[in-house]
Amino acid sequence: MRSLYSRVFLITLATVIFSSLAGFLVSNIYYHMKLKPFNDEKLVKIAVNMKDYVEDHQADAKAYLRSTADLGYEMLLVSRQGQELSYGSPFREKDLAPESLQMVLNGQIYHGVAHFPNTPFVTGFFDNTLRNTIGVPVTLNGERYALFMRPDVVLQFGELRIFFALIGGLAVVFSVAAMLLSTRYLVKPITRLTEATKRIAQGSYDMVLPVRRRDEIGQLAKHFSTMSRELERAEQARQEFVANVSHEIQSPLTSIQGFAEALLNRDLPREEYEHYASIINEESRHLSILSKQLLLLSSLDQASEGLHKKKFNLRSQLRQVVQVMEWQLGEKDIALKFEVPADIEVNGDEVLLSQVWMNLVSNAVKYIPEGRSIHLKADLTGDRCVVRVTDTGDGIAEDQLPYLFDRFYRVDRARERASGSSGLGLSIVKKIVSLHEGTIEVESSSSGTTFKVSLPLL
Ligand code: ADP
Repeated sequence: MRSLYSRVFLITLATVIFSSLAGFLVSNIYYHMKLKPFNDEKLVKIAVNMKDYVEDHQADAKAYLRSTADLGYEMLLVSRQGQELSYGSPFREKDLAPESLQMVLNGQIYHGVAHFPNTPFVTGFFDNTLRNTIGVPVTLNGERYALFMRPDVVLQFGELRIFFALIGGLAVVFSVAAMLLSTRYLVKPITRLTEATKRIAQGSYDMVLPVRRRDEIGQLAKHFSTMSRELERAEQARQEFVANVSHEIQSPLTSIQGFAEALLNRDLPREEYEHYASIINEESRHLSILSKQLLLLSSLDQASEGLHKKKFNLRSQLRQVVQVMEWQLGEKDIALKFEVPADIEVNGDEVLLSQVWMNLVSNAVKYIPEGRSIHLKADLTGDRCVVRVTDTGDGIAEDQLPYLFDRFYRVDRARERASGSSGLGLSIVKKIVSLHEGTIEVESSSSGTTFKVSLPLL
């Protein structure tokens, strides 16, 4: 695997090479398009000055040309007969076309610098060929010469070139070195995050991540920590759930086992025999309810898209629930006030929502003393319908309210377990309501409890 570190290094190197090339090409194009004519014009002025001086001081002409060459020029003086006198460093190539020479000997100025061909990888500025010069006609001792000149860039800019080359080279070296260091700084937190993912996979959630950084890596680390906390919480909840389920199954099984053993005693009086058998019957019934509720919860956990939604009338559904509960209501002498408008149509899973109302009403019946009352009320508020199940029980202590919808939570653990309560009813209710994108709230005081379910109509 190529590491991120070497990848960044290679990309930086490629970037440096590419930008240097691009920089060179662009400045060369700029020279060819903009600077070349200026350079030509400037050099023509100097060459004409030289010509004027040489023609005015013919006796010192050669000495003048020599000392001018020492100042940083390359020159070639050509006679009509083709004799050449070179001043300063020699030209790399004497590639001048004969007609150009002829043109100067005939009295015209040769603009080799301005007409130097545009080639992307040859900088006209530095190319010391005879073609890349300015040519002026010079008359010495009555004879016509052609004087070709161009600046000697080695002499004029020798140290400057080394200086600039050094700046360029060092800039590359330093930027690569700085990039190597900064890449390490960039890559390190990613390596730490990778380590963290491995540790999470092994089930260890404690980790120190660079969450204080205010850049993308900091963001990533922050989201990663949140995710790890969520995973930890989910893992804890899963373990707790498994422990609860085992406990809930274990207690009735122990009691069934104990009473079944007692039943094996042949000398048991009839009364006790019946009592033990009825306990076994009761405990098996609780186990059966528990397993049904667990199955329902597990199918709800996976059912977010599997709701069988359709439109149905809320009033007739709530009526059916009350009919089913009729017997229990009568048993505890509980009066039920029914206040549901006839025209509320709800779009939802009919079977699951029926389970919601059933759980809420049966809880009210179960947990309030005999002779009290229940009020079942529904309203339309905007695009939602609100169903309230209010009882006149003794209420639930305020500190218990936050846990009411937790799985296996019972207010009076021992007593309610004995009465077959599993503590799953409200968590099933909450799950179904949130699958319908609704909310459930509970309010309670010493004079009663209200569960308020709000569901979107569409
Ligand atoms: P279960 O299915 O065992 O009835 P729930 O999850 O439905 O459990 O309820 C959790 C706890 O909330 C119950 O153990 C009970 O103590 C309390 N509770 C629920 N509804 C009411 C109510 N209407 N009045 C008083 N207590 C209630």
